[in-house]
Amino acid sequence: MTNTATITIYRADWVLPVAAPIQPDGAVAVGPDGRILAVGPAPRLVADFPDAALVDNGRSIIMPGFVNCHSHLEYTSFRGILDDAEYADWIISLVDVKASLTPEEYLISAKLGALEAISSGITTIADTSYGATTLEAAGGAGLRGRVYLEVFGVDDSHFDDTMADVERRIDDALGAAPATIDVGLAPHAPYTVSSRLYQAVSALARERGLKVMSHVAESREELTYIRSGSGKFAHDYREKMGWERMLVQPYGVTPIKYLQQWNVLHRDFIAVHCVNVTRDDIRILRDKDAAVAHCPKSNAKLGCGVAPLADLLHEGVRVGLGTDSPASSNIMDMFDEMRTMLFLHRATERDVGVLDARSCVRIATLGGAEALGMESEVGSLEPGKWADLIAVDVSRPHFAPITDPYSALVYGANQDDVRLTVVGGRELYRDRAHVGADTDEVRARAVAVRQKLQDRVLTGAVEVGGAESGWWQAAAPVIHREEIV
Ligand SMILES: [Zn+2]
Repeated sequence: MTNTATITIYRADWVLPVAAPIQPDGAVAVGPDGRILAVGPAPRLVADFPDAALVDNGRSIIMPGFVNCHSHLEYTSFRGILDDAEYADWIISLVDVKASLTPEEYLISAKLGALEAISSGITTIADTSYGATTLEAAGGAGLRGRVYLEVFGVDDSHFDDTMADVERRIDDALGAAPATIDVGLAPHAPYTVSSRLYQAVSALARERGLKVMSHVAESREELTYIRSGSGKFAHDYREKMGWERMLVQPYGVTPIKYLQQWNVLHRDFIAVHCVNVTRDDIRILRDKDAAVAHCPKSNAKLGCGVAPLADLLHEGVRVGLGTDSPASSNIMDMFDEMRTMLFLHRATERDVGVLDARSCVRIATLGGAEALGMESEVGSLEPGKWADLIAVDVSRPHFAPITDPYSALVYGANQDDVRLTVVGGRELYRDRAHVGADTDEVRARAVAVRQKLQDRVLTGAVEVGGAESGWWQAAAPVIHREEIV
């Protein structure tokens, strides 16, 4: 029999399990192993576990923690640095500016991101990054999720070195990964990874049992480059970025079809963005059972467009919601992301029925877990799953009156309304304060990192819209930050 003294009951005026109806005056009982024991009416759970510790969140909504299906924690210090650049200029300037930071500075940046994620109610991340720093920052902060090691390389003359580097990074990451975070691979995008390298990385992922995430069909520039070998990437940046050494073939296809021909789309593949996809592309994603990470704010801010979410969902493609990096969407606020998603799709489809608040919450939680293949562990509040839950304070005047908690969350809430974040039964954020983290120190150090970046942009060391190093044309060391110090 379980010792009920080591059980914690989290109570609130509403519990929203996502996979079950809303429970007014509800509670979640969490066992000493960090898993959910029971979800139901608070009076019943209190009676069932009489010695349990009771944490009453009052006029709050308890729900599963958000699954942020695409993030880049290490870019948190880049917040707002290139707010008004168009996509091609933005990505190439970002690639260049990021070469100026040391591993320690990336660690600080990722730590700031981890703190923001936790205070925003994000409990699971799917992060693409160099690897070590994000693993340390996210794992140290107590987050759950997966870190996909990002790979670039357009010049096949570096192929062998790149693959050796990727293997070394996989081994390092697997050795360093905490229990709550696993490791994947992220060939960055079809236009920044040669076809040979993309296929080799995909094969390596399969061989090592690693899941894959890749930016696909994000911008018009990418579409034009893959389809016809022309446009801004081909003309303005070809020489600077080394693209003259990358053969894109065959021309005339969409990015999804470009990848499909190499047989790299499968159940363990998440295509991030998918803004520029055709109906045929969507059917390919469905047939291959590949998932999509939808990042509506990032796509809108960079002028990329709006992904065809309704068609993706209609075809049964697994879709999760992602904030992308603060370099593009500035804040990791999943409430804002849900609201933007709903408004954008209603506006572009001219159809209120295209999406509702309940669907948005599902996409941001269980939908993301399904996209990541983690739905048996997280994404909803059910007995046996990890106790990854948050409490959203809805006591303030702008929420009153509440008749539908889904409506309150999607139309009214913001990251500041999160009062409690629990991962695996461990409280990481309580009463709007981080537990056991020196947030002031991290914030101060991140500001210093940001100042360095800002100085680099302002002094012209990085010309927005230009590129001085073109380092991504190189293979290994693709990002040897230790050597960039
Ligand atoms: Zn991204």
